Amino acid sequence: MMIIVMKVGASAKEISAVLSRVKKYGYEAHLSDGQERTIIGIVGDGNVRDYREQFELMEGVERTVPVSHPYKLASREFHATNTLVPLNGNRVGDTKVLVIAGPCSVESREQILETAHAVKEAGATALRGGAFKPRSSPYAFQGLGEEGLRYLAEAREQTGLPIVTEVMDTTMVPLVCDYADVLQIGARNMQNYALLHAVGKAQHTVLLKRGISSTMEELLMSAEYILSHGNTRVMLCERGIRTFERYTRNTFDINAIPVLKERTHLPIIADPSHATGHWQYVESMAKAAVAAGADGIIVEVHPRPEEAVSDGMQSLTLERFADMMKALRRVAEAVDRTV
Ligand code: PEP
Ligand code: MN
Repeated sequence: MMIIVMKVGASAKEISAVLSRVKKYGYEAHLSDGQERTIIGIVGDGNVRDYREQFELMEGVERTVPVSHPYKLASREFHATNTLVPLNGNRVGDTKVLVIAGPCSVESREQILETAHAVKEAGATALRGGAFKPRSSPYAFQGLGEEGLRYLAEAREQTGLPIVTEVMDTTMVPLVCDYADVLQIGARNMQNYALLHAVGKAQHTVLLKRGISSTMEELLMSAEYILSHGNTRVMLCERGIRTFERYTRNTFDINAIPVLKERTHLPIIADPSHATGHWQYVESMAKAAVAAGADGIIVEVHPRPEEAVSDGMQSLTLERFADMMKALRRVAEAVDRTV
């Protein structure tokens, strides 16, 4: 694992000579074209550091940097500036904070359309809703499936909001890609490596949620799977981790926001709904996340939480969501961002 930093103004010929040398040694090269200079990440199985001197002697190479942590393409060493993920005319990772809002599950055409219009009106920038639901119990509602995806597509048509929805297994990737702007990988699937490969190959935008008991390093390693296919449109999501605490559903690891921002160039999204499990705490934690530097918020909203088939306890009503948006704007302004 090594990074080659090219000199400022290195020529295309010098860069391609390095790339062919990487190939010759049996490794794979990933290019990061910075504003100033090109950085080449070398990945593969083996000890590429044995070739350090050979690379350093090549024309146009400024230096080589061994990367000691196990993720590379996700690291700030490989890509110093924030990756800006394009989404419906916005760039996630830039100053505007992305707000993804909507129900836990798509329950009916009316429910998703009503929610979509209301969250759009309140200023949301994307619509969420699960059509394929990962439930802890096999007897719980599993989602509407493709019917739910069709309702999401209709909501996008009517509101212009891009769609964030979960894909649970590899066989479903093509179908969900047809409907979704962003493929959500749920916490329970963060280490489903076949699925990570599949969404990497699909070259579709991904929202990767942190596993319930996963470290930040494991989250970054999972992102690395997707990046290794050349798919750089990846957003990470802190959604709370399991601890001994039971007054909340999970423990919101707000540390993860500044720590991940330091280590990776990928945007960080916070999910105060699953992190707390109770709507009463959602606004506080959403504000805290924006203050801590999150690039976006994903929040569960339902027109009638008491009737929700999943996660009603943590869902904001349409009115509470609109109130939260007002509060978020003020916090964002205080940290030089917009919502
Ligand atoms: C969800 O977003 O509704 C969901 C199931 O989230 P997680 O995978 O974080 O539990
Ligand atoms: Mn949910």
